[in-house]
Amino acid sequence: ETVSPLPEHTRIITVSNQKGGVGKTTTTVNLASALARRGANVLVIDLDPQGNSSTALGVPHRPEVTSVYDVLLGDAEIADAEAPTTDHENLTCVPSTIHLAGAEIELVSLVAREQRLRTALQTFLDASERTYHYVFIDCPPSLGLLTVNAFVAADEVLIPIQCEYYALEGLSQLLSNIKLIQKHLNPDLHVSTIMLTMYDARTNLAHEVASEVRAHFPAEVIGAVIPRSVRISEAPSYGQTVHAYDPASIGALAYLEAAAEVAERGAPAQTQVMEGA
Ligand code: ADP
Ligand code: MG
Repeated sequence: ETVSPLPEHTRIITVSNQKGGVGKTTTTVNLASALARRGANVLVIDLDPQGNSSTALGVPHRPEVTSVYDVLLGDAEIADAEAPTTDHENLTCVPSTIHLAGAEIELVSLVAREQRLRTALQTFLDASERTYHYVFIDCPPSLGLLTVNAFVAADEVLIPIQCEYYALEGLSQLLSNIKLIQKHLNPDLHVSTIMLTMYDARTNLAHEVASEVRAHFPAEVIGAVIPRSVRISEAPSYGQTVHAYDPASIGALAYLEAAAEVAERGAPAQTQVMEGA
């Protein structure tokens, strides 16, 4: 059944935060899965050499698999690398392989090194018979050339923020990098969505961090908050999203709620990226 408002144009959303372990991958796969379950066609591009998104979606990412690495180097098209997921028929994935770990260095000497993902993705979307409603790009925890490729390919940035100490640390660096990309490489890029993750309702700290983030980014932070949940953290070890693993769990419900909000908010018009925290 189709319950979402589906976007008119493909929404290309980069999930980024240069800190590791804040929930980028978890948010990418579970939000993508939730939107697919709401009737959207969704593509996840795994741009982290760790390949955690590929794993969570049940997509093989052995070294010999055609992956986003081959796409970036110009040796394959996205259509060659795109694979079905075990999660949902509406959800496909371009896996990453361990080769991607060397790509930051290999890309340096290539022409249009910042635009390679954008060019490949636009070619793919233009030629595809399927209408893609969402493309999510799962970034590595760094601001190197892979992340730059993701920023240049996307219109929107989704920033997951962990409700822990130092949540806002490093965010001003991320925002100033986004501004640089806007200025020099991709004027359409904007932070559309900030999501609070790993929220532990029992602690005052989580509450304080959430209020602080909301005060800094009132327009960007969505209402749904992702709780810290064992079911969410267990799912990837079974090669599953939380929606496949335990669809009635609070974690699954939270991601469904977040997906509904992301869908309903549409792609908001470009807002000024705020000065860092
Ligand atoms: P990143 O991609 O930013 O490095 P991950 O999404 O891989 O972060 O999350 C880091 C770790 O935290 C993983 O082990 C993941 O399973 C776990 N995790 C993420 N979100 C939650 C959550 N809401 N509740 C419990 N564990 C979580
Ligand atoms: Mg990750």
